[in-house]
Amino acid sequence: MIPFIPALNENRVIAESLRGIDQRIKAENKGVFSEAVILFDHVPVHRTLPYSGYDGYAVAGRSLRFALTDPRPDAREPRRPYYVSDKEANVSLADSEVVSLEQAWRWLTDWKQSKALLREQIVQRHQVWRNSREAAASDLRAREYERVRSDPDPLPLPPQIWGPEQERAWQADTDRGEVAAYQELQAWDGYPRSVTVFLVGNIGPCDGCKARLKVFLYELSAELFPKALVMVKAVYTGDQCKRGVRGTTDRLETEYGYPDRAEQQEFRLDGEPLRRAWVRLVTAWPVRQ
Ligand SMILES: [Zn+2]
Repeated sequence: MIPFIPALNENRVIAESLRGIDQRIKAENKGVFSEAVILFDHVPVHRTLPYSGYDGYAVAGRSLRFALTDPRPDAREPRRPYYVSDKEANVSLADSEVVSLEQAWRWLTDWKQSKALLREQIVQRHQVWRNSREAAASDLRAREYERVRSDPDPLPLPPQIWGPEQERAWQADTDRGEVAAYQELQAWDGYPRSVTVFLVGNIGPCDGCKARLKVFLYELSAELFPKALVMVKAVYTGDQCKRGVRGTTDRLETEYGYPDRAEQQEFRLDGEPLRRAWVRLVTAWPVRQ
């Protein structure tokens, strides 16, 4: 494979995602949006739409996998990193990132289910093929056996139905079919070798959402794609990192974006202005089950 193609794919799909977010901001004059972009083996396979926090419950319902909050009094969501307070998790519950991660998780779960169904179909199709081949050959073999066994006298023996030559050709064809089926299944089981999810937005993720990204990465890797190399990156425009205060009565300080190891990259679509965004690799938060 030509090595620069994956980078081109990624650059392009992120540029499209940034454009989608720009268009929503233009249409609504303001807002904070994010969307998830999913790639298998460096090829884009899905984009959620750009969501705002307001889309949250309407799009994803009330049961949000990455809310990391527990509605019961004094209960602590066990997957949430210790350094994220209940208040932090609750104040960021309706952030656009929560919806985007939810939608990405749902798409990936659905994809895995349909993949399992298709795999079953491949196996069944192969079994039907194998059975019909066996049935056809054993019928001819049985007829040949009857022919040889019959007493030719006084009649001449009827022409040969099946012999070593047919047996060899049959075996060679069968071998080819078995190998092809094995390879098809092997390719199927090994796909995707890598899963990359970009969470693209017009502001860096807050402290609560940075923790959500870590849990998302961990669960994606441990539960959905244990055999693939899984990567999650936060991609965002605006400041690399800025402090902010949330909540009206109950004020809470948070930090948007990453103070460290975020790299500014350029994204371009043909005939459109250059877009710059921060890209930061997410590391996992191991969830104790
Ligand atoms: Zn947030």
